[in-house]
Amino acid sequence: FHHVLLDGWSVFQVLSDVFACHAALSRSDDIADTYLGLPNRRPFRDYVQWLGEQDQAQAAEYWRRALASFECRTPLPYEQVPTQAYSSSSSQSRSAELTEEDSGRLAEFAKRHHLTLNAVVQGAWALLLSRYSGQHNVCFGATASGRPADLPAVDDITGIFINTLPVRVEMDSAAGVIGWLQELQAAQAESRRFGFVSLAQLQACSELPRGEQLFDSIVVFENYPINEEEAAAHGLAIRDLAAVETTNYPLSVVVAPGRRLSVEFGYDPGAFDAATIEAMATHFLRVLTALSNNPGARLRDIDILTEAQRSQVLVAWNDTDRDVPAVALAELVAAAVARTPAAPAVIFEDGDEGQPVSFAELETRANQLARLLIARGAGPERIVALALPRSVEIVVAQLAVAKAGAAFLPIDPDYPAERIAFMLADAHPVLLLTLAEIAAELPAVGEGSLLVLDDPGTVAAVAAMPDRAPTDADRASPLSVEHPAYVIYTSGSTGKPKGVVVSHAGLASFAVAEAEHFRVGPGHRVLQFASPSFDASVLELCMSLPAGAALVVPPLGPLLGEQLAEVLQRHRVTHALIPPAALATVPEEIVATGLPEFTTVIVGGDACSAELVTRWAPGRRMINAYGPTESTVVTTWSQALTPGGVPPIGRPIANTRTYVLDVELRPVPVGVPGELYVAGAGLARGYLNRAGLTATRFVANPFGPPGSRMYRTGDLVRWIAGGELQFLGRSDAQVKIRGFRVEPGEIEASLRRHPDVDEAVVIARKDGSGSTRLVGYTVSAGGRVPEPGELRALLADSLPDYMLPSALFALDEWPLTPNGKLDRHALPMPTAAVPAGADYTAPRTDTERVLAQTWADVLAVDKVGVDDNFFELGGDSIRSLLIVTRIKAAFDVTLTPRDVLTARSVSALAERVEDAVLCELERVAFGDGNDNGK
Ligand code: AMP
Ligand code: MG
Repeated sequence: FHHVLLDGWSVFQVLSDVFACHAALSRSDDIADTYLGLPNRRPFRDYVQWLGEQDQAQAAEYWRRALASFECRTPLPYEQVPTQAYSSSSSQSRSAELTEEDSGRLAEFAKRHHLTLNAVVQGAWALLLSRYSGQHNVCFGATASGRPADLPAVDDITGIFINTLPVRVEMDSAAGVIGWLQELQAAQAESRRFGFVSLAQLQACSELPRGEQLFDSIVVFENYPINEEEAAAHGLAIRDLAAVETTNYPLSVVVAPGRRLSVEFGYDPGAFDAATIEAMATHFLRVLTALSNNPGARLRDIDILTEAQRSQVLVAWNDTDRDVPAVALAELVAAAVARTPAAPAVIFEDGDEGQPVSFAELETRANQLARLLIARGAGPERIVALALPRSVEIVVAQLAVAKAGAAFLPIDPDYPAERIAFMLADAHPVLLLTLAEIAAELPAVGEGSLLVLDDPGTVAAVAAMPDRAPTDADRASPLSVEHPAYVIYTSGSTGKPKGVVVSHAGLASFAVAEAEHFRVGPGHRVLQFASPSFDASVLELCMSLPAGAALVVPPLGPLLGEQLAEVLQRHRVTHALIPPAALATVPEEIVATGLPEFTTVIVGGDACSAELVTRWAPGRRMINAYGPTESTVVTTWSQALTPGGVPPIGRPIANTRTYVLDVELRPVPVGVPGELYVAGAGLARGYLNRAGLTATRFVANPFGPPGSRMYRTGDLVRWIAGGELQFLGRSDAQVKIRGFRVEPGEIEASLRRHPDVDEAVVIARKDGSGSTRLVGYTVSAGGRVPEPGELRALLADSLPDYMLPSALFALDEWPLTPNGKLDRHALPMPTAAVPAGADYTAPRTDTERVLAQTWADVLAVDKVGVDDNFFELGGDSIRSLLIVTRIKAAFDVTLTPRDVLTARSVSALAERVEDAVLCELERVAFGDGNDNGK
């Protein structure tokens, strides 16, 4: 009777009770006495006594070693990550079994290599976990019989002795299967010696935050000595056995050996999709057979995907081939000029006289300028820098550079001089094109390489040029689509921005795909929203002009909130790409009813929330577009979105391939997170003058034609059913601030330039309103601690506005984890708002009063004193933009966000506003003919 009930009891038991009881048992006699009202208490007392005699210190020492540097639970492919694992319940299940043949082979394999079946099962689970999580070191729970062999009469004790112990497995992909399994088995045997320790004690031995579970999945190997014959001999029969096993883990894998080895996956339906579990079960069986079929293999050779699954993700879902004539950027536009010469190409605002520039006129102006550029040295493999704001001029200049065969390098005139100087020195442009009012603030460039477009001399020289399009005969050398079309700088993690060089090769296919997917054509109006220094502006260019649609150039200044809505309305914009942060600022009523002609909104550049889709998708086509600068603007895009859930980033666009790979560059299964790699026509050439960096990010493509490359994005994604991709986050520190790509490492490097800063850390934190803020921390070695103001000024010298941290903390020393690493959770958080206290100084002038009210509104605080600090009140770059927008409305002067970020107080900002108002009055009084009003 005992033998039937002994450990086999667990079949009838809810495992969670078992764990609880075990934990209690190891401590309290009383509970042992009342435990399940057992008739046979004496041996239990013996057991409790036995427990007391064990060397707890030695066990703790063992577990501390076994769990050393285990800082993060092995993640599972959740649909919905359980917030608190203990509330999980594996109430659903799904079973699978090996064939008789495979089961036999597996048993034979284990026997031949002196492995227990349990060790092979655990190895298979460890391997699967590591492939699913992308981690080399995984941890799961395994139930172990805790029936101590050295306890006298242990066989007479009725009850549960099962304990769940963490199994931590290191995956060395170069290790051989057999040796690795044998090691795992030996380590398991060792850990059993200390199996009397409760889970709570084990948890304390780990470096996980207190109270966090050690693992989310457990493996139960059911190998109970249930002997039905012996039971029958005692007149006992087992019938109507209905076992319901529920654990309090999100996932439990119960393996029962037998003629056909069977596996039951118990899972929490609140956490997993049934399809995910189904796939997991298939993969698990596959690993089990792969191990036994390939004893000589290395771990890295074990493939968990079936041939069909592999070909689905690599081939079927990448079937994007599309025949598009290979032409360069300028030819794309020339085709539209031929079709609709009189149609508006660029619409802009210039008082009331603003006449759209027609396609024919645009073509003529670009042709003439292109010829001048060629005369001044522009041509294939050469770079022409454009220090121009969003404007008609920059559209003409971009086309002209393309026609000359050169690559354009946009430079935001609002960038700090130091950054502009760096970009110019790094890129070595043959020419720098700009406007007179900007030229004065630009760093000096070499003799003859500055071309001021509105300078009368330049205007005359351009006008004197023939207006026919230049051909290869006119260019310094023939132009091919492999030549660079543009260079865009993005933040660099090692401290300096890096230039991405993109050729013409992917542009034609991109333009065709855009026209189709966004349904854009003659008569449509596309908003020029993006700053020219980002490749989103190339999306706007390629979406509008080649399709015969017009590009709408909005007035200078930030495009947010009501002002953005107003521009959309006034110009009857039909299509626009707007990043999520800006979309979120447009008032809800306007989105719903105020924009009848705005039929297509493309959201991209940053993760789009479900809420934005709910707000924007009804009544219009809303598309989520994803793409790093390194692959010609867009890599994937979604279908038209419908409200409900976080939108996917969709599938690869024409002539583009996407691979979701693990660290060994193996495709991961559907539903499993991996890193996104991109290949195809749009792949950039690489980083300008950074061969080493290029080699680490643009790597050999094992799935493409020999010699082809793929770009490693650093984005974590997963395939979802049907072949769409879901964005999950980053694998590195890179963040997006209002859609701008920021490497915290670059800001850290800038902070370290201060002589009193020894070390610096910059992290991105989500604030209450959901926007991401940068927070900087410094530690100084010498006695002197720099003032935040000093550091801010230093940063403002080299970094664009969106890279300026909204809070800075000078620390005495870094908070460390027990392990000696930086404890990021222990870093101080900026407080959302500083209570207006004794320091409050009321506004004194009308300007200050209006500004103080504006700040209070935008920063959502009660009142703002004139000396209060913008950042301390929770200000950041998007809020600075909103303030600039309000200033424009209230005072009719245009300040820049930088004015707000550097003035930092209402009083200082009031001075700038008053200066600007004076300038404006003078301009109106004396009229300088320049209506750009910058
Ligand atoms: P950039 O090179 O400035 O275009 O930035 C590319 C990065 O922005 C990507 O690697 C992603 O991290 C992020 N990103 C771009 N588009 C999206 C999107 N639609 N959803 C989520 N992240 C995006
Ligand atoms: Mg992009």
